[in-house]
Amino acid sequence: MKTSVFSQRISAILFLFAATSTLPAAPNPASHDYPFQPVPFTAVHLTDGFWAPRLETNRLTTIPYAFGKCEESGRMYNFERAAAVLRGEKITDKKPPGYPFDDTDPYKILEGASYSLAVQPDPKLDAYLDKLIALIASAQEPDGYLYTTRTIDPQHPHEWSASQRWVKEQELSHELYNAGHLFEAAVAHYQATGKTNLLQIAVKEANLLCTTFGPATNQLHFWPGHEIVEMGLAKLYRATGNVRYLDLAKYFIDDRGSRPGGDDYHQSRIPPVEQTEAIGHAVRAGYLYSGMADVAALTGDTNYLRAIDTIWENCVGKKLYITGGIGARHAGEAFGNNYELPNLSAYNETCAAVANDYWNQRLYLLHGDAKYVDVLERTLYNSLLAGVSLDGTKFFYPNPLESDGNYERSPWFGCACCPGNITRFLPSLPGYFYAQKNDSVFVNLFASGTADLKLDDGCAIKLTQTTRYPWDGAVKITLALEKKSRFTVAVRIPGWARNEAVPGGLYHFAESATSEPVTLKVNGQIIPIKLDHGYVRINRLWKNGDMIALDLPMPVQRVIASEKVRADRGRIALQRGPIMYCAEWPDNPIGKVRNLVLPGDQTFKAAFEPSLLNGIETISGNSLVVTKNADGSAMKTDQPFKAIPYFAWANRGKGEMAVWFAETSVPSP
Ligand SMILES: [Zn+2]
Repeated sequence: MKTSVFSQRISAILFLFAATSTLPAAPNPASHDYPFQPVPFTAVHLTDGFWAPRLETNRLTTIPYAFGKCEESGRMYNFERAAAVLRGEKITDKKPPGYPFDDTDPYKILEGASYSLAVQPDPKLDAYLDKLIALIASAQEPDGYLYTTRTIDPQHPHEWSASQRWVKEQELSHELYNAGHLFEAAVAHYQATGKTNLLQIAVKEANLLCTTFGPATNQLHFWPGHEIVEMGLAKLYRATGNVRYLDLAKYFIDDRGSRPGGDDYHQSRIPPVEQTEAIGHAVRAGYLYSGMADVAALTGDTNYLRAIDTIWENCVGKKLYITGGIGARHAGEAFGNNYELPNLSAYNETCAAVANDYWNQRLYLLHGDAKYVDVLERTLYNSLLAGVSLDGTKFFYPNPLESDGNYERSPWFGCACCPGNITRFLPSLPGYFYAQKNDSVFVNLFASGTADLKLDDGCAIKLTQTTRYPWDGAVKITLALEKKSRFTVAVRIPGWARNEAVPGGLYHFAESATSEPVTLKVNGQIIPIKLDHGYVRINRLWKNGDMIALDLPMPVQRVIASEKVRADRGRIALQRGPIMYCAEWPDNPIGKVRNLVLPGDQTFKAAFEPSLLNGIETISGNSLVVTKNADGSAMKTDQPFKAIPYFAWANRGKGEMAVWFAETSVPSP
């Protein structure tokens, strides 16, 4: 994109900073950045039947609900107490917050609320945010430090923090994690509203970090214990043009693992540029790789790029769940070994799904290859979306692929990272649909709605998508143009529509070819499906009213995992379009689904059920149930089988659920 909300407002903010002398004069922040630029979420409006209602639930229900939970659980009270101390008042309640990172929950919801405001003006929400921002400002120490537990009681902060600033940062204090989320929220709020009240708080803290941390002998040499400040600093650099923020992001990445004392959990045993596998705490890892992508884009550092490309190959080829979830182990909320992908005990933190989409979006923007969008889409429609209930008020922390009846979403958590991450991700989703590079427009995701963008020659275009995706693969894209113009529309042909379950071959479809081919037409004329990095590129002299018609057949596909994945051996999973399916207790006889067998010759029928779970496409057929007689002999019975989209499970109470089904043998009960 040549112009963005950022660049339009940069001159205004530079004036502001020049006037207040808080920032040096800024270079052009766009001089080096991602070669593929997303069409910003502010320019994309979804009007479809799938995402638009979910974004509306997030706006009208989840955001106020989550702010309410922050108030109720004392997260705002922590800022109030810190502010009182800074005003010189004596406070009697010096109890530390539940976690030293509780401050990040209001930041994350503020970020989501900001994205939401950009799409849908809401004066009441706008005023609430301003009040909250004033509260945050009042809890910031004069030099920019912002960490309520220490300000409330500097001598006795949360036990994960030391009695001095930063001392336990590499372990558990999360001081830089808090800062990172503040920066992300500040840039979103500024981008959405044009206001600088939160941005100024962020800049003040970022300036403190720039003075405190760095390679000089009079600076502290620490790497962040929980990554995200790297991404936050990159965003702050883009918003303000202050290159010190970019330098600090790079410093934090380069410092990591550069001294003894690191470990796999924190991705700090060796420097990130030398790492080749996705390891340790999965959310930390996803944020690190995303931060490295940002710095690589902004500096042109090819070593970072090589490292995250290699790590991605490992992750997608050996550590990715079929739902797009990552982080197999409960212990350490971590990646497992290669092919260690248990189903019942899968951890798959909701935050890790969000991090996986941040990372894949960034790799896409670096390379322009649709394989990253394939992973992003798989994660989005499955592992990520399962993180929130259909009504928007309950959340999953782990997202297992099998349930013995013990899993259900919670209204909130003591450690509430996941609700905030869902809340902030969803309203930013329109920004993942389209991208641009020079005179090429990339259509990455599918949903009814519009996108407004400008070509390099200044020609304004409006793209209008009409589709029932993800339930139906017919997509129409109409172009409205000011004048005839030659450019390329690159349409992504998803991997699932061309017999590639995931890039790298960890999973494949049982049927080697779908019966119907993908078709693409412009004004009724067939365009050959010649793929270039997962896209069909249509270069022509476009005129107003031209229409692209894409048809992605959506048969029910049986997915098979690599033999190396022990948990899935002899099993199949069901996919239709981008959606993974599961069998859940209410839809199958006697509520048992973990003992179902789906023999290879089964045929399945898909049907849309408007009154089930807010309207979903279900899959039905027959299954074989194997039970044991009293004498120990096996008894096989036929019974009807029904599956629902994985994201919609656990909205009808606790019970069994399964994604992988035995093909010939009986799964252990
Ligand atoms: Zn989380």
